[in-house]
Amino acid sequence: MSKNIAIIGSGFLGLTLALRLSESGAKVTVYESAPEIGGLAGAWRIGDLIWDKHYHVTLLSDSFTRKVVEEIGLADEFEWVETKTGFYTDGKLVSMSNTLEFLKFPPLGFLSKFRLGGTIFYASRVKDWKALEKIPVEDWLTKLSGKRTFEKMWKPLLKAKLGEAYKQTSAAFIWATIQRMYAARNSGLKKEMFGYVRGGYARVLEKFGAHLREKGVEIQLNSRVLATELTESSEKTLKLTFSDSSVNSVAEFDSVILTCPANIAAKIVPQLTENEKAKLENVKYQGIVCASVLMKKSLSGFYVINITDETPFTGIIEMSALVDKKEFGGNALVYLPKYVAPDDELFEKTDAEIEEIFLSALEKMYPHFKREDVVNFKISRVRQVFPLPTLNYSENVPSVKTSLENVFIVNSAQITNGTLNVNETIQLAEKFLAAEFTENSEK
Ligand SMILES: Cc1cc2nc3c(=O)[nH]c(=O)nc-3n(C[C@H](O)[C@H](O)[C@H](O)COP(=O)(O)OP(=O)(O)OC[C@H]3O[C@@H](n4cnc5c(N)ncnc54)[C@H](O)[C@@H]3O)c2cc1C
Repeated sequence: MSKNIAIIGSGFLGLTLALRLSESGAKVTVYESAPEIGGLAGAWRIGDLIWDKHYHVTLLSDSFTRKVVEEIGLADEFEWVETKTGFYTDGKLVSMSNTLEFLKFPPLGFLSKFRLGGTIFYASRVKDWKALEKIPVEDWLTKLSGKRTFEKMWKPLLKAKLGEAYKQTSAAFIWATIQRMYAARNSGLKKEMFGYVRGGYARVLEKFGAHLREKGVEIQLNSRVLATELTESSEKTLKLTFSDSSVNSVAEFDSVILTCPANIAAKIVPQLTENEKAKLENVKYQGIVCASVLMKKSLSGFYVINITDETPFTGIIEMSALVDKKEFGGNALVYLPKYVAPDDELFEKTDAEIEEIFLSALEKMYPHFKREDVVNFKISRVRQVFPLPTLNYSENVPSVKTSLENVFIVNSAQITNGTLNVNETIQLAEKFLAAEFTENSEK
């Protein structure tokens, strides 16, 4: 292959595409609007520490992620840890890390627990996820677990991730979530082992970037692509324009692959048909406001705490329950995520306002927590994290091929039977390449 290909976006999707296309002989340029590569899996500075902007773990079953990490030379740098899960419910924190603890779980009676366990087991065995896309998740879970368990357990958990949009979400969403958790337990050890690379995603991305550059890939940071159009002189050549005129504004390519969210892609390619644009703009996203809190003392020994009470954040992820505290200079690192709609008013609040709201809630939940122990507090805001898996979602997924020959749109909107995670993202890239860029299908 001797193609000249532009990739828009340097998340794991864009980076995996760049890796494989450069390996097959193409000349690849990656354009990234941010000053760093990595997208949602990127790293940032929290005080003296550089760690993931959003909490990330790898599961033993994440074969696609593990393969890429191996290819860039970091396979031996994985740490695998058995973690604990907690539930904060009715003002109390309880452990729910094994079957015995599940059986003792106070908020539900024996019959409810039996039905809840049955629901999870049943969902883990279902194969026909397409049939589940037609059923609202509330109806499916209520039928299987009962009304009380839905209200007490499922509804708060669904709202934690989806907000009020849970009402339009299909049962395929909870199916995919349960499938991923089962994959974690079923990978031979029957334990929930979570992994991270020593040094976090900062290290993975540094190595990944260096590996790509060695293969001849050009990575252009601070380069927001505004438009991708066919040039007037040729029906085959694509021209990119950038928001910053200092970036080479006459870059021309044989192929362009966009990996940004669907509605942004619709704006970048003005020559798409109205129908294509409508389909892309129709994808509804869920956003996130996620605080990283570096503190002197641990909150608890749980990696994840699911919250069924009303709190300003929708979960507590204590990264230092998984990652050796030495990585954090002896401190604890806690993430407080709040998943919200892209137009939620939380996006308009200042950092100081969000810090006040979140820390006040932590004080109420953990009497031993003291504000003086907070070393650093930093907030990430992303309006488009994952597409909402609405009813019959897979029937309305935008196509990777567009009406413009050699312009492709590949993004998480095309994940139809999985949750958003790096493994799914890499798999999406590999599937796209096999379908569109193998020798037989080459344009
Ligand atoms: C809070 C949170 C927790 C997560 N936890 C986990 C976890 O534990 N394990 C796991 O495996 N995964 C996890 N994930 C998911 C994981 O981060 C994603 O699967 C993955 O990062 C998606 O990569 P992507 O390339 O598809 O998208 P993105 O990372 O969003 O990349 C898209 C890139 O395109 C760039 N871009 C957009 N518009 C333009 C433009 N016009 N010009 C140039 N560049 C542009 C963006 O800046 C971005 O860098 C988590 C995500 C979040 C938010």
